Amino acid sequence: MRCFGFFIFGYHQQADMSIHVGITGGIGSGKTTICQIFECIGIPVYYADDRAKQLMVEDDQLRQAIRLTFGEESYAENGQLNRTYLANIVFKNPEQLRQLNALVHPAVFQDGIDWQAKHTNAPYTLKEAALLYESGSFRSLDKMICVYAPKKLRLERVMNRDSVSREVVQARMNKQMADREKMMLSNFVITNNGENALVEQVLQIHRTLTQRT
Ligand code: ATP
Repeated sequence: MRCFGFFIFGYHQQADMSIHVGITGGIGSGKTTICQIFECIGIPVYYADDRAKQLMVEDDQLRQAIRLTFGEESYAENGQLNRTYLANIVFKNPEQLRQLNALVHPAVFQDGIDWQAKHTNAPYTLKEAALLYESGSFRSLDKMICVYAPKKLRLERVMNRDSVSREVVQARMNKQMADREKMMLSNFVITNNGENALVEQVLQIHRTLTQRT
């Protein structure tokens, strides 16, 4: 829920006039790379996927819920998340994956709102995540940017970055919505094909989002 500049039950909440923009795209399309350019020009970025991983370790309520649902083995003795154990459960069973998402998504959503409240002076903020459309999170955002890169290039980039096989990347790609659909649903598309200059595309979107009519 957004904060409005009213006195509500004696609490003064600061007005949040900034626009909340989502940035998404397939695995390895270049979301993080492009967000770093936005950060260079002073735009705050919330990296939702990274934050989700952190919250699964740091948020006591979420830890408790994960333990209750998936068992004590979900965490190692040193408190770290047992990713292999959980991945084995959820990747074999879509219902278990749905349950895990049902625990993690609300925690990340609330954390994102708390984060936004700290950046109300920014002209707009960015929320970066791979599955903003698939998860339905795009509905809480004002504008959407889709990062597009050809599949072949994405495969090569992720194989190099993560030292994983083509099959592993392909399997992750198969779980994501088609680029064409994401592009059609988005307000802006950034093409990261190694030919179109990224900075110019970012600046063009920045100018549009900061234009006051
Ligand atoms: P993921 O979905 O896995 O989080 P992502 O969409 O955030 O990935 P990045 O991590 O930004 O993608 O990019 C994937 C890899 O490709 C990285 O190693 C990055 O350095 C490289 N890369 C991205 N864009 C370019 C580019 N224009 N030129 C060269 N390398 C690039």
